[in-house]
Amino acid sequence: MRIAVIGAGVAGLACAAELTAGGAEVTVFEKSRGPGGRTSTRRTEAGAFDHGCPGLVHGAWLLELAPLGLEHAEFAGREVPVPAMSALCRALAAGLDVRAGVRVERISREEGGAGLLGEDGAALGIFERVAVTAPAPQAAELLADAAPDLAARALEVEYAPCWAAMAAWDAPLAIAEDHLADGAPGTPLAWAVRESAKPGRAPGERWTIQAGPGWSLGRLDDEPRAVALDLVAALGVAGHAGPLPAPTFLAAHRWRYARAVAPLAAPCLVDEEAGIGAAGDWCAPRPELGDPGVLQGGAGVPEALHSGRALARALLS
Ligand SMILES: Cc1cc2nc3c(=O)[nH]c(=O)nc-3n(C[C@H](O)[C@H](O)[C@H](O)COP(=O)(O)OP(=O)(O)OC[C@H]3O[C@@H](n4cnc5c(N)ncnc54)[C@H](O)[C@@H]3O)c2cc1C
Repeated sequence: MRIAVIGAGVAGLACAAELTAGGAEVTVFEKSRGPGGRTSTRRTEAGAFDHGCPGLVHGAWLLELAPLGLEHAEFAGREVPVPAMSALCRALAAGLDVRAGVRVERISREEGGAGLLGEDGAALGIFERVAVTAPAPQAAELLADAAPDLAARALEVEYAPCWAAMAAWDAPLAIAEDHLADGAPGTPLAWAVRESAKPGRAPGERWTIQAGPGWSLGRLDDEPRAVALDLVAALGVAGHAGPLPAPTFLAAHRWRYARAVAPLAAPCLVDEEAGIGAAGDWCAPRPELGDPGVLQGGAGVPEALHSGRALARALLS
């Protein structure tokens, strides 16, 4: 059976691996340059930054990652993949056919399956089954024509955004801690980490600084550099270092859909007649695994993993 998976984040790759193990011929389409989604690592001239998900919450679910051979180590109350957060999806993607840099623009129902169209109307093929694993609002757009009922469910999901700044300095900052959570009163900071302090990272004074959801929402359309400068100032306050010197490298990333704070009460969605399904952290609520340390929680990696696998089983049955 030919199956297309849209998205090479945790959910899409977990889905693709399970489909492949079940005997399907699977192609994964990913719009970014590589797999990872919200667990990717930004590589810059100043070094690497885990600018999205900072680590994996402890729990029995981690045993499910053991077959991947992923190296990870404890840091700041989480298990952190080594040598970078992106190692998680790199391990999940092993052996899969991932077409990176290919954005799926449209899914249409065709004789014998679903047709996928890329940018400029490029035909990406006809597949007997399609798994959509983009964040819910983007999934809703993709599902609108071919599976409108699933699109409507996806539109019910609420997300919290997150602005993340990545900053580097030539000399160490006068901040004693390697990790600050929830910042200081009056600052937007929700989480900041000295990247080089994490296990297996390259040396150098690099900080990833993430803002809380309320502040991020209020600044959603602001200019990235202004946002990044404000987050650097917040780091100085929260780290009791006063005004910080100008960073030698500074960038910002806006995660418009960082955490699904109101996911659906279903492990995945399937339109059996169309042969189309959807999965992701947004449709697998497991509140007992909630992670209030970052961005006041929301669904995360364990939910994405379980949702992707649930969709694979549903599409194969
Ligand atoms: C700042 C931040 C902090 C976080 N903190 C934590 C935490 O502490 N603990 C935790 O468990 N989780 C955390 N998370 C959430 C966690 O990263 C996500 O829940 C999880 O990675 C979601 O995986 P996913 O596969 O469902 O979605 P994604 O990772 O979003 O993957 C979807 C993929 O689909 C691709 N895509 C979308 N549209 C298309 C298209 N049209 N064509 C092709 N490809 C497409 C995207 O590029 C992306 O790669 C955090 C996330 C962020 C951003």
